[in-house]
Amino acid sequence: MKKHNFSAGPSILPREVIEQASRDLLDFNGLGLSVMEVSHRSKDFIAVMETACDLALEHLGLNNKGYTALFLQGGASTQFLMAPYNLMEHSAAYLNTGTWASKAIKEAKLFGTVHEVASSKDQNFCYIPKGYSIPEAADYFHCTSNNTIFGTQIHDFPKTNQPLVCDMSSDIFSRVLDYSQFDLIYAGAQKNMGPAGTTLVVIKNEILGKVSRNIPSMLDYQIHIDKQSMYNTPPVLAVHVSMLTLKWLKSMGGVTAIEALNKIKSDRLYHEIERNSLFTGFAQKEDRSLMNATFNLTDDSQKEKFDGLCLEAGISGLNGHRSVGGYRASIYNALPIESVETLIQVMNECERKA
Ligand SMILES: *Cc1c(COP(=O)(O)O)cnc(C)c1O
Repeated sequence: MKKHNFSAGPSILPREVIEQASRDLLDFNGLGLSVMEVSHRSKDFIAVMETACDLALEHLGLNNKGYTALFLQGGASTQFLMAPYNLMEHSAAYLNTGTWASKAIKEAKLFGTVHEVASSKDQNFCYIPKGYSIPEAADYFHCTSNNTIFGTQIHDFPKTNQPLVCDMSSDIFSRVLDYSQFDLIYAGAQKNMGPAGTTLVVIKNEILGKVSRNIPSMLDYQIHIDKQSMYNTPPVLAVHVSMLTLKWLKSMGGVTAIEALNKIKSDRLYHEIERNSLFTGFAQKEDRSLMNATFNLTDDSQKEKFDGLCLEAGISGLNGHRSVGGYRASIYNALPIESVETLIQVMNECERKA
């Protein structure tokens, strides 16, 4: 039986995408070869890479606006160091909203002075700090749009004079924003775009070339731009499946349509978390995420029963991250509304049997 997959990452992909990918694994474009067996320099694979990059920019409303999309390796975690390597001359400003933001800060400190403009660590990252100021001297400002572990999301981005750098690993392509306010966006594919193994980087070309240090080739955005993400062998399968997912998103009506669905899914789930006496939400209401809903039991003695009911209903991947405990329902783009309805029914049933 196909499970209701609430996993935080690697996470659910659209069924159609997995079916197409499995056909392409056996025979890609009728070539008599698997997509894993063709040269990345072949015209068939170059078309995959170009389509993936074009669709990524199109979904963000950034084509023909001086941006380049790249598909790189090393996960979002490598972007924690590539961003400062390429952009930080003296100092940078960082907003600390959770585990991933903290890891980005740790890497940035290797390259210069980091101003942590605000942190929500005092309350285990259950909210997004507001009202902070960003030092004028900072070479850029870095934030994390969606905090996958804590279930918080930035709904209003600060206006900055400096380049705005954003880790969008867990909410890329999930909502309508003015993406041209960002100068560098990065996202590991495995949350909302594809399988693990590739990272989308969207970069405003004009911000590069301003640091004096030498940059190793594999970590140099400009080299990857010049080589169209093929400086070395790209992760062909991960890029291909990401491309299929971006096509699927287009067939769904793009980011505008998926945002409407994401709002319905998250509204229903948060409504149940608030209504149901057995559960309490973790994240502060105004900062709640459309992608990762974090909640706890009000009475831990119900845990065995709730977990059992989830198991029976085919619900998978609902455990909270170890630093928060409780539960986390990741309700990414590809998760059908029926899965959310099933979870809500189980929460209801658990309350009735309490
Ligand atoms: C998962 C995640 C990461 C880490 O991604 P890797 O691809 O595993 O390096 C970074 N940032 C956020 C917001 C994430 O959700």
